[in-house]
Amino acid sequence: MSTETAEPTESESSDEIEEPESALETARRQLQHAAAHLDVDEGVIERLKHPTKVHRVAVPLKRDDGNVEVFTGYRAQHDDVRGPYKGGLRFHPHVSEEECVGLSMWMTWKCAVMDLPFGGGKGGIVVNPKELSHDEKERLTRRFAEELRPFIGPKSDIPAPDMGTDAQTMAWFMDAYSMQEGETIPGVVTGKPPVIGGSYGREAAPGRSVAIIAREAIDYYDYDLEETTVAVQGFGSVGANAARALDDWGANVVAVSDVNGAIYDPDGLDTHDVPSHGEEPEAVMTYDAPEKLSNEKILELDVDVLVPAAIGNVITADNAGDVQADLVIEGANGPTTFAADAILEEKGIHVVPDILANAGGVTVSYFEWLQDINRRQWSLERVNEELEDHMLSAWDDVRQEVESRGISWRDAAYVVALGRIAEAKSVRGLWP
Ligand code: GLU
Repeated sequence: MSTETAEPTESESSDEIEEPESALETARRQLQHAAAHLDVDEGVIERLKHPTKVHRVAVPLKRDDGNVEVFTGYRAQHDDVRGPYKGGLRFHPHVSEEECVGLSMWMTWKCAVMDLPFGGGKGGIVVNPKELSHDEKERLTRRFAEELRPFIGPKSDIPAPDMGTDAQTMAWFMDAYSMQEGETIPGVVTGKPPVIGGSYGREAAPGRSVAIIAREAIDYYDYDLEETTVAVQGFGSVGANAARALDDWGANVVAVSDVNGAIYDPDGLDTHDVPSHGEEPEAVMTYDAPEKLSNEKILELDVDVLVPAAIGNVITADNAGDVQADLVIEGANGPTTFAADAILEEKGIHVVPDILANAGGVTVSYFEWLQDINRRQWSLERVNEELEDHMLSAWDDVRQEVESRGISWRDAAYVVALGRIAEAKSVRGLWP
């Protein structure tokens, strides 16, 4: 993997940057951009541009028809100065070493901005999970767990669900790991079903945090929640939970979408009635709504708040000029490219970044890890109360940087995260 990525300077304009960017390029550019606002040792920034370790494994699978296929898996471990590596495992055909590294960097900042005692990791298998049977997915997950076993553990690296994986995947993963270790070790992964040490509220947490942060941003910019119109791209776990929470709190969710397209009702949708991906995959368009649009067009609707909550790189230099929302709250990881960010900023659109907005997932993962270590389950009420407290406190830390430095929400979130990481690196020192 090449580690030589051109670093843009602060003055580099959006049209000088080639698109599309990889997650790693975006992550490195964002880091360099934010570092300019902080008095941090260049050596620390240099270290943070590179992952500590990247593991690449072969994962053989016996297909249901008896044939053997070999898939490639990765686990990128970016930085652990503040605690064990933490982050999801995705099963997706676009998984690559570069993508895992970029996403693991975002996990480092995400954990730091939330002040969690974790660093950043991310991994996955290059596979289309839609082409696997239930049994094949189980065998692939178990073998992946075994291949990663030397590199992970509740004190060193704790995976979690991500795109294409879920609570069941984590249950198989935890079982395979535990069987080989000779004892039940629930803390090796988070996002498990509650019956085996998972946390109540974990599945809904990323979407819930997006809604909490959207609510705070709406209030901060003096909108009335009841009058606010919202469009949500993606109706999976993040998008559906965010849309439904905002709807419950009084906002007007006028459009939602999935891979097949978007539904739009200017009077507001009943989001609980629209099937989420978990309830009925790819069925948003079956819902009877006054208007149907393409999945891309939802990004250009004239709404107050836009929540891209599907996949990365959807707001690019090509379409950022057409975004009409006043606020963008990032639900997916990396939905806005570095170049698009500059265009949105020029247009006066406020973008609240993924590393703050969707951090409820890893925050409840932290609660789950604590519950596993203590062998004591928290109630859903306690999880949601603590999540609310953590989100508000992180929002406040970031808001203070926005106000005192006059910088964007993304830069402010990076300033908070980098400040904590740099301080940890400085007191621990470089060994030897
Ligand atoms: N995959 C989720 C994320 O991107 C959660 C990671 C975790 O809970 O460790 O934040």
